[in-house]
Amino acid sequence: MSNSYVFYQGKIVKEEEVKISIRCKAFNYGLGCFEGIRAYWDEETNQLYAFRLREHYERLLQSCKALNINIPYTVEELCDWTLKLLRKNEFKTTVYIRPVAFKGSDHLFPTLYDDDNRILIYCHPMGNFAGKDAFRVCISSWRRISDNMIPARTKPTGGYLNSALASLEALQNGYDEAILLTDSGYVCEGPGENIFIYKNGKLITPPPSDNILEGITRDTVMTLAREELGMEVVQRSITRTELYSAEEAFFSGTAMEVTPIVEIDNRKVGDGKPGEVCKKIKEIFFNITTGKNPKYAHFCTPVY
Ligand code: PMP
Repeated sequence: MSNSYVFYQGKIVKEEEVKISIRCKAFNYGLGCFEGIRAYWDEETNQLYAFRLREHYERLLQSCKALNINIPYTVEELCDWTLKLLRKNEFKTTVYIRPVAFKGSDHLFPTLYDDDNRILIYCHPMGNFAGKDAFRVCISSWRRISDNMIPARTKPTGGYLNSALASLEALQNGYDEAILLTDSGYVCEGPGENIFIYKNGKLITPPPSDNILEGITRDTVMTLAREELGMEVVQRSITRTELYSAEEAFFSGTAMEVTPIVEIDNRKVGDGKPGEVCKKIKEIFFNITTGKNPKYAHFCTPVY
C-alpha cells in the first residue's frame, strides 16, 4: 500500500515517506501497543462509518499508560486525525485502521524508560477477514500470557508473539484457529478474538480477570444479546470440558467480527453447524455497523 497516506508524528504523509530505523526498540523488542478498528462502507448511502472509534482510542491510551508510552494526543484528537486520514485516502470500501504507539529510540537496551514516544496510523481495505463461514479450532499447547507477565489486557505488540505461536500451531495441525487457556487452565480467548459459548439459554464468556483483552466487539455482542435478544449474559470462568459440551461457540473481534466455531479438538460443537444464536447476533451486528439502527447510531462515526 505504498501509495497510501498514513498519519505519522503529527502529520498525514505518504506511507513511503515514513522511515523507521532498523535499530528502533519497537522493532527489536516489541515495545509498543496498537489498536485495530474498522470503518464500514455502506453502499446504499455511499458513506463510511468508523465503528466505536472513541472506545478504541480510549483503550489505546490505556495501553500507552500501562507501557509508559506518552502520546501527546487526546482521544478526540486521535479520532479527528483518523477521520482526516480516511478522507485523505478517499476510501470507498470497508477499512481496517491500525494505530501503533511505540518507543522509537535506537538505544540498545529494552527499556521503556525513555521519551522517544511515537504514533502512526495506517489503514488497509478489509472485507471478511475470517475468510470462512465457520472455524474448526484446537486448544493450544501455549498458555495465554497472564497480566503479571505482559499486560495482556492492553494490546502490547510484544504480546502478539504468544498469539502468533498459538495460531502457528493451529494452522500447522490443520485447524483454522487456536483457543488459548489461562495459566490455571481456564478458557481465555483466541489469538486475536474473544470467545463466547451458549448453553442452557445463557451466553457465557470469560471474565476480564481471566486475562482476556476486554474486546470492544465482545462488549457489542453482550449488549446486543441482552438488549435485542433478551438473553442472559454471564461473565465467568469456562472450563475446557464446558467448551466440548457447549451448544454453540463463537469468536468475536474487530477483524474476525462474529465467527461461529463448529468444531473444537475434533469434537463437533452442537450439531457441527453455525448455531442459531450466533447467526442472530451476527445478523444484528451487521445491521448496526453502518448506522442504520438509531439505537446504536452513536457507535458509528460518519467519515464523509
Ligand atoms: N483478544 C485479543 C488478544 C485481540 O487481539 C483482540 C483484537 N483486538 C480481541 C480479543 C478482540 O478485541 P476487539 O473486539 O476489541 O477487536
